[in-house]
Amino acid sequence: MSITIFSQGAAGEVTGSRHFLFTDKAKVLVDCGAFQGKREEADRKNRQWDFDASALDAVVLTHAHYDHCGLIPLLPKHKYQGNIYSTAATRDVANLIMMDSCKIQAADAVHLAKRAAKLGKTFDWEPLYKDTDVVEAISQFVTLSYNRPQIIADGITAKFFDAGHILGSSLIHMTIKDGDKTVRVLYSGDLGRNDEPILKDPQPADPAEYIVLESTYGDRLHEGKKDVMPELAKIVNETVSRGGKIIIPAFAVGRTQELVFYLHLLHDQNLIPSIPIFVDSPMAVNATSIYKLHQECYDEETHEAFTKHHDNPFGFNDVRYVDSVEESKKLNELKGPAMIISASGMCESGRILHHLINNVGDERNTILLVGYMAEYTLGRRIKNREKQIKIFGDMYDLKAHVEEINGLSGHADYKEMLAYLKSMDTSALKKIFLVHGDPEAQVAFKKFLMDNGFPNVVIVEKNKKYTLD
Ligand SMILES: [Zn+2]
Repeated sequence: MSITIFSQGAAGEVTGSRHFLFTDKAKVLVDCGAFQGKREEADRKNRQWDFDASALDAVVLTHAHYDHCGLIPLLPKHKYQGNIYSTAATRDVANLIMMDSCKIQAADAVHLAKRAAKLGKTFDWEPLYKDTDVVEAISQFVTLSYNRPQIIADGITAKFFDAGHILGSSLIHMTIKDGDKTVRVLYSGDLGRNDEPILKDPQPADPAEYIVLESTYGDRLHEGKKDVMPELAKIVNETVSRGGKIIIPAFAVGRTQELVFYLHLLHDQNLIPSIPIFVDSPMAVNATSIYKLHQECYDEETHEAFTKHHDNPFGFNDVRYVDSVEESKKLNELKGPAMIISASGMCESGRILHHLINNVGDERNTILLVGYMAEYTLGRRIKNREKQIKIFGDMYDLKAHVEEINGLSGHADYKEMLAYLKSMDTSALKKIFLVHGDPEAQVAFKKFLMDNGFPNVVIVEKNKKYTLD
């Protein structure tokens, strides 16, 4: 039996996850993510499609982040007709993420066409995919619950384990059988952290000879989750005492629900005053409904604290979800302390921009940053506390306080990843393959693992084939 693995994305980088596992009898793709980053470079990489999708026997999806699921609508376009396996929550969140991508791409097409017309150039850019492609891809999903082994291709059985990273996220364990020979390969997807609110802790997976492991934070440690609540309470209380507003740019799926969950707890414990809290993002409204639906993903604490007492862990009296544009505009007239949580998370687009325009100039206010801010984004410039920031072509003075909470990351850091490996039975483990990390992080992580009882670690190179025996 021959087994080969290789990666066409998330090899020496953190986006565009696309990992292949080929045996003599079957071809499986793990994740089909989009590249993110600078617009033109990402677009070029996302259009590069150098594999035969029609030859695949199965596709499995670890979780619904854009860099893992964003190119799934291209699979049916490239004549893949087989099943796409994921958990039910992952399918639902992926649907939302892919549909949102369609909207952004359609808006980009309009914007770029206008710009080309202005310059007298011909316009030939087309969105990668449309909503009809998403609908077709979604119809190919077959959902699996955690811990239910399922044959997905000739000689290959897959089993999903809770990764605790976002709603529905999974590690995918594959057992490959040929006669009396068995090889087991575990794909980590993105690994979450213990004590994550709402979600269960990452679940130890079955033993495997090979682990394909993420390494995003291979050289970094996070603040503890336990520090988040007191920090959040402090920032809310200080801003309210100044009579200011708190503006939080946050990713609509995951981070927003996590924040509302924490605010609910703080409110219940009387650690923050009652102020109106607005979640101003249509996508967050939809994402929250998906969160409400998938109680099978909740940890015990969430069940205990909320489902017994309330219908909805993501809402309490102070929270209002804002869907319509008119309602969103009305928030501009708000007087007195309030909180607005809005997307996009890195302040690149969306309603958050209007709230920033309205609020950055007032020193009573706080802009609270709760997520990663990539280089060249408006979020990064706010993080750097630049004196003036540009929004929609105009300059605004940044006088509001800028605060950061760093403990909210959904990725395990290197010590947490080691602790996860140690929670598994690794007596049969032969090799760890590192993916989904920047080169420096991967080199550091490889050394850390080797120093801590895992001598065989390989940093995966793009398109290089690795044979498993
Ligand atoms: Zn992820």
